Amino acid sequence: MLEVTDHSTLSQMLLQEVKTLADRFQQTFGRIPSFMEVCGSHTMALARTGVKKALEGYVRLISGPGCPVCVTDQVTIDAMISLTDGVNRIICTFGDMVRVPGSYGTLMQAKTEGKDVRVVYSPVDAVRIAEQHPHQEVIFLGIGFETTIPILAAAVKEAEEKQVRNFSMWMSTKLVEPILRQLLHDGEVALDGFLLPGHVSMVMGRKHFEFLATEYNIPAVISGFEALDMLSALRHLLLLSLEQRAVVLNDYKSVVTEQGNVQAKYWMNHYFTLCDEAWRGIGVIFDSGMDFKSEYNQFNAKVKFPIPTREPRRTKCRCGEVIRGLIDPPQCALFGRACTPLNPIGPCMVSSEGSCAAYYQYMREE
Ligand code: SF4
Repeated sequence: MLEVTDHSTLSQMLLQEVKTLADRFQQTFGRIPSFMEVCGSHTMALARTGVKKALEGYVRLISGPGCPVCVTDQVTIDAMISLTDGVNRIICTFGDMVRVPGSYGTLMQAKTEGKDVRVVYSPVDAVRIAEQHPHQEVIFLGIGFETTIPILAAAVKEAEEKQVRNFSMWMSTKLVEPILRQLLHDGEVALDGFLLPGHVSMVMGRKHFEFLATEYNIPAVISGFEALDMLSALRHLLLLSLEQRAVVLNDYKSVVTEQGNVQAKYWMNHYFTLCDEAWRGIGVIFDSGMDFKSEYNQFNAKVKFPIPTREPRRTKCRCGEVIRGLIDPPQCALFGRACTPLNPIGPCMVSSEGSCAAYYQYMREE
């Protein structure tokens, strides 16, 4: 059932309109439309609000690669666990990351073994911890997309201004544009359009995504995260698909502008530059992340604490296929059996934005 809110009547009307348009799409093209929600926040919101379930059989909503925890490669977790072995080190990161399995355990397990691993809400908190512990090295594992990268830059700015020399960051950030290009280039999933994330678009601006229409001839709609927002965006996507019009439409104008947040973009480009990044279950993608510019190497944990990279031990987790939209979570043999939110095998079940966690919580047949 759709979420009951003050807008429930409107939601039901919009839902009905989306279903009618989806029927028309099916009559016109002989199949149901497939749209990919790019980000994990949408994946969770579509499941939580009941929109995804309500549209079963009408619209195929495919989870995309925009959950930052889910796409963090095992190599990164393995590196962070190796770093906990050094003396006088404090490892800090965001909440979900401590539960993500690497090849040989999690950061949480390292903590229970006595290593100093701390969860922080913001990288700026890690700078504060470094100030409070001047004789220890504080290393922050920085993950996230364009929404988070400016926040990472703000922490580096603070450390630079306060001359906090015992703070560094291990960057494992990702960018949306390169992974969308990769997905479209590979063509493994047939897509009729993208539901674009409102928060990434708030930073990058609508124009940033115009390449989808001009280069790939595919429509996309920027959406907020409430049921009404998402239904409205899906309605637009269906109308565009029916008219066969490739347009990138901003349906979240209260938050997203044409150019995005110029200040945020300035600071992320001030400290960081493009780099190749390894995506879990996908591989290395050219220029798909950001890492420190060489002039800021004093804050670059990879330079400060070089460690040999080991070939990761792969598991039967199929997160790589889930985040590329190739399978739905229940198609993984471990889903709901060996892999549950209490005992996650892969990051898609760990993350509060992960497809497997969303499916387990809201879509699973009891
Ligand atoms: Fe990985 Fe678990 Fe999802 Fe399977 S159910 S893909 S093991 S996270």
